[in-house]
Amino acid sequence: MADFAALYARFQQASAVSTDTRQPQDGTLFFALNGPNFRGRDFAPQALAKGARFAVTDDADLAATDPARYTYAPDPLAALQQLALHHRRQLIMPVLAITGSNGKTTTKELVQVVLSRRFRVQYTKGNLNNHIGVPLTLLSIRPGAHELAIIEMGANHQGEIEELCQLAEPTHGLITNIGKAHLEGFGGVEGIAKGKGELFRFLEQVGGTAFVNTLDARLPGLAAPVAERVTYPGPTDTYPARLLGAAPAVVMELYDGQVVEAKITGGYNFANLAAAAAVGAYFGVPAEAIADALAAYEPSNNRSQLVRTSRNELVLDAYNANPSSMAAALGSFAARPGDPAAKVVILGDMFELGTESGDEHRSLGRLVQGLPFGTVILIGPELAQAAALDSSMLHFATKPEAATWLRANPLANRQVLVKGSRGMGLETLVELL
Ligand code: ATP
Ligand code: MG
Repeated sequence: MADFAALYARFQQASAVSTDTRQPQDGTLFFALNGPNFRGRDFAPQALAKGARFAVTDDADLAATDPARYTYAPDPLAALQQLALHHRRQLIMPVLAITGSNGKTTTKELVQVVLSRRFRVQYTKGNLNNHIGVPLTLLSIRPGAHELAIIEMGANHQGEIEELCQLAEPTHGLITNIGKAHLEGFGGVEGIAKGKGELFRFLEQVGGTAFVNTLDARLPGLAAPVAERVTYPGPTDTYPARLLGAAPAVVMELYDGQVVEAKITGGYNFANLAAAAAVGAYFGVPAEAIADALAAYEPSNNRSQLVRTSRNELVLDAYNANPSSMAAALGSFAARPGDPAAKVVILGDMFELGTESGDEHRSLGRLVQGLPFGTVILIGPELAQAAALDSSMLHFATKPEAATWLRANPLANRQVLVKGSRGMGLETLVELL
């Protein structure tokens, strides 16, 4: 980089950091990042025209046209990351990293609503949890305005969490669970444990604090070398919690005996809620405030939402799917009160399973077959293998074919679970339900 100090000075003069010209640019420092199908420099003049104060580009000729506003950097992504790390090192506050196979965003949001009862918290917006999202979140932290940061970290291969830790330098960390997500990139469940475990290894090196979900058999072992460990939700853990009921929504008892009636559904959310309670208690949020925040939290973005349409009651979980979250969602849907014959499950293909895809879709078929549902609708080419096990399961190779069937056979007075990988976009079926 030509001059890092100059870049840092521009960051301090800018209102915020931006990377997307579709977002407002008033006064921002725009990083013209390259994508798989575009050159960032093509957007840099547009960003400045829309109000960005400065732009970082890898086009030296473009930068030379207006040195007062352009900063030349041979690799704008590396510059963004370097700036984020430099900024992070100026911050004196707890930085809590959250990773895991399932439930990262949900847990991050729950932790955020709890900690916000006592602190001014900055946190990952939406699902910006990768090598670009993490630096952007770090650069959005303002020392005067924030007291604590929560950073979601996602990964689909080894080494990625380690890299994100090198950027964010977390002081605290939470791994939601080790499950079968992104099996392809990690090479099996042991590989996933190792990959997610990179967070705890980082905390071990810096003498940090791990929040440990003891419901997951692998996590206590992974956390063992970390200096400080805060465990949940077992009866002998630091912050115990007890699941009292999971349908229609989670009811649980907190460490101090308070009962929380959550608005989120699904037994698996118990661990997410218990995680947030443990983090809140550890940071000194009063127990009543924790209970109140957890009870008030309502999910968005198709993550386990209860949706009542004019005809049916939906459990809309179309945001994502993998073998562990499918099993969790199906188990809790089966446990919901109500006539099993009036229960419908609509499932879409699970992506990113690599060579395990066939086996995992067949196992899903066997799982569904063994549960009491009135109607099973499977959508996507991979699920053909599951449908082949049992002729009573309906199978459609594509979503439009399923939509045609739903129009011809409208469902009414049913409970309907909708779940599939993000790429399936099953939420678009809701208008037919
Ligand atoms: P992503 O990898 O997309 O960032 P994420 O880890 O952030 O996902 P969420 O967005 O919180 O996860 O939840 C996605 C889905 O995972 C939920 O809708 C639910 O089906 C499932 N899920 C959430 N929490 C758990 C859990 N603790 N155990 C198993 N499955 C879970
Ligand atoms: Mg997420």
